[in-house]
Amino acid sequence: MGQLRAGIIPVTLFQQNCTILFDDETKEGVVVDPGGDVAAILATIRENGLSIGEIWITHGHIDHAGGAMELKGELDVEIVGPHAADEPLLSRIADQARAYGLDGARNCTPDRYLEEGEVVSFGSHRFEVLHCPGHAPGHVVFYNREAGFAHVGDVLFAGSIGRTDLPGGDHAALIRSIKEKLLPLGDEIGFICGHGPGGRFGDERRSNPFLQ
Ligand SMILES: [Zn+2]
Ligand SMILES: [Zn+2]
Repeated sequence: MGQLRAGIIPVTLFQQNCTILFDDETKEGVVVDPGGDVAAILATIRENGLSIGEIWITHGHIDHAGGAMELKGELDVEIVGPHAADEPLLSRIADQARAYGLDGARNCTPDRYLEEGEVVSFGSHRFEVLHCPGHAPGHVVFYNREAGFAHVGDVLFAGSIGRTDLPGGDHAALIRSIKEKLLPLGDEIGFICGHGPGGRFGDERRSNPFLQ
């Protein structure tokens, strides 16, 4: 097998980091959080000759899941995740789209919800599922132990944390998710998040103002 690689396509007016995780030799991969701008996602997949096996969703917000059903239709693959606690969010995406003036976002019905401790994979790249509620009740994080990498969605950002003022948000739960599930994985773990640049857990543990 080759190396795990990640490519980021900022999508929707929220500049959400739709992420393609792939193997640089086999070109197998998955799309994480196709919130919208599906044509741009498809163009990137084709230009790089990637073979997408599944769509993975971190949580049920429109900027992360709003394009998932359209992309599923284009690629004929299954939607995996988030945790079932986000079903109420996933089934209200079309309402959110109208409220935000976003065209084309559709309610999302995953083929399979995920639980804490499950493993999702493509090729030989395995990702442990961590249920990390707080920003959204069903938020999951995908952790690849071998590569020392995590996709944390909107749980943690470089220098910030996910907002908790949206339906289902819970600040205390979010801090617990970060401090009890993410940071113990180790300072050296690199992460990609849902918005803006990624980083390393150690830098967030030491200097993120929301975690002190
Ligand atoms: Zn979110
Ligand atoms: Zn987001």
